[in-house]
Amino acid sequence: MKKIRAGILGATGMVGQRFITSLEEHPWFEIGALSGSERSEGKKYAESAKWYLSGDMPEDIGNTKVAGMGSDIVEEFDLDIIFSAIPSDVALEIEASFAKKVPLFSNTATYRMFDDVPLIVPEVNPEQLDLTEKQKKNRNWGGFIVTNPNCTTVGLVIPLKPINDAFAIKSLNVATMQALSGAGYDGVPSMAIIDNMVPYIKGEEKKVETEVLKILGSDFDICASCNRVNVMDGHTEAVFVKTEKDFDVEAVRKELLNFKGLPQKLKLPTAPDPVIIVRDEPDRPQPRLDRDKGRGMAVTVGKLEKKGDTLKFTCVSHNTIRGAAGASVLNAELCYKRGLI
Ligand code: NAP
Repeated sequence: MKKIRAGILGATGMVGQRFITSLEEHPWFEIGALSGSERSEGKKYAESAKWYLSGDMPEDIGNTKVAGMGSDIVEEFDLDIIFSAIPSDVALEIEASFAKKVPLFSNTATYRMFDDVPLIVPEVNPEQLDLTEKQKKNRNWGGFIVTNPNCTTVGLVIPLKPINDAFAIKSLNVATMQALSGAGYDGVPSMAIIDNMVPYIKGEEKKVETEVLKILGSDFDICASCNRVNVMDGHTEAVFVKTEKDFDVEAVRKELLNFKGLPQKLKLPTAPDPVIIVRDEPDRPQPRLDRDKGRGMAVTVGKLEKKGDTLKFTCVSHNTIRGAAGASVLNAELCYKRGLI
């Protein structure tokens, strides 16, 4: 099979590096170009990127010349699709210039809330992919943009899906404890976070509150409190849910354990199976112990408890894999399987 050639925008960054590792041995996709900002353009990847992942930078990647941000790299490198991990304040024009030509899978917040742009977690709302047709027509584009949510939203919305389907969520409160990698390499100065936590992440609470509702297609009361903690990778979320229908913990547990989405049914290459892992120990899940489950694509849920009429649980997911690059790659796999690429 001829592989689909993918370009990575923001390849030198934290999420960009996760794209590289996800695509290095992918059965359907191959890396066709690495692109960075003006700072990196024209340099070898090894000279422009600070490799932060465990394991060495792949040698072929280190020797690759970083391309610029112009959409002419689609023709120059014969690209079929684009993965984007660029800052949201520059994405509006850059992502559009690529989507005019080819499908683009974005991690960036910029296009998530547009009516004609799918905001997808493939296990939860794969039907939103139908919007790509409308989008192409509306915007007169040859390609389209498919977005994945904020890293905090992904890990939350996956366990919420079976709970909402079975018991109908009435209200949701969530307090997050988010890893440092979520802010990018230069995001949080070490002096700000060692021996500390920061109860503020710019724009994050609003993103979680709006994205969860768009993805679930619901309109319940939702309130998020987002916090940065001294953890490298893996977001932890303490969740409190009230439902329309009564529940007991055993029934919730069963719904979570039995949950399978379309990626699991289609056996997409990077789909985790199971997608939700339930732990019974009182001190799990923990980011260091649970973030890599399902090669970083599963969500681990624990501390399931009924308190009055509230369901309480804690979940952990890998923010730069399931919450970013891995989410985009899974979206692209679903599009490929549906004949959209
Ligand atoms: P990062 O480590 O700071 O990397 C940013 C990347 O964007 C670098 O490759 C950088 O290239 C490039 N870039 C910077 N300024 C640019 C410009 N003006 N034009 C074009 N490219 C530019 O950030 P990150 O954590 O990987 O995040 C990337 C995007 O993914 C952001 O929109 C972020 O909100 C989103 N996201 C991140 C996470 C996460 O957990 N980290 C999760 C979900 C979504 P140079 O190195 O060449 O300057």
